Amino acid sequence: MSETQAPPARGKLAVSEQFFSIQGEGASAGEPCLFLRLAHCNLRCRWCDTKYSWDFEHYRFEDEVRVERTEAVATRIRAEAPSRLVVTGGEPLIQRAELEALFALLAPELVIEVETNGTLAPGEGLLERVNQWNVSPKLANSGDPPEKRLRPEVLALLARSARAYLKLVVADADELAEVEALVSATAWPRERVLVMPQAATRSELAARGPLVRAAALTRGLRYSSRLHVERWDGVRGK
Ligand code: SF4
Repeated sequence: MSETQAPPARGKLAVSEQFFSIQGEGASAGEPCLFLRLAHCNLRCRWCDTKYSWDFEHYRFEDEVRVERTEAVATRIRAEAPSRLVVTGGEPLIQRAELEALFALLAPELVIEVETNGTLAPGEGLLERVNQWNVSPKLANSGDPPEKRLRPEVLALLARSARAYLKLVVADADELAEVEALVSATAWPRERVLVMPQAATRSELAARGPLVRAAALTRGLRYSSRLHVERWDGVRGK
């Protein structure tokens, strides 16, 4: 397996980018935070807006990814002194062992969120340390086959954590039925379920947002906008 296909060896992290912004979506939307985007993903969603973090047939690994010592990543994060760190990807749990090592080097009071597609189980250490899990299993609109995008045992594990929110990307109001089926199958508490529109640009958000919001509210589900798309119109690193 080439370097571009595999996460790095122990002691290192494959980092796509790091930047300050606001959490644009989900349960903590609006919170200022430092984003750490890790490289690599085990899914291939057709509408993915961060393909530069994993699609190395179309993006140059050498341009997009820095393989760094975990201590160096921790030093950089500490120097930024954020109150909230959001680790995203790609799929961050591909590097879950090293992620746990990274968190051990950060202040215990730092609030940490992890975004995951819900296909890889975090270990006990990560489950305890992470303050908020934003779990976003993919629906059929992603184009990923069901056996790859849905791991019932992982979703069941995360559903039991009061820190885990289910965050589902919906392209069309008709897909709320698929959302309901997934919520029911995973027994995810409805107060920790959020539905948001598939939108990488302001115009997509304007077109889909009101329809998805209305459909979600009709079913008593919480709607999440995408504040970073509203504010920056899909500009990378914001
Ligand atoms: S799981 Fe997330 S990062 Fe991976 S391909 Fe899908 S949208 Fe992109």
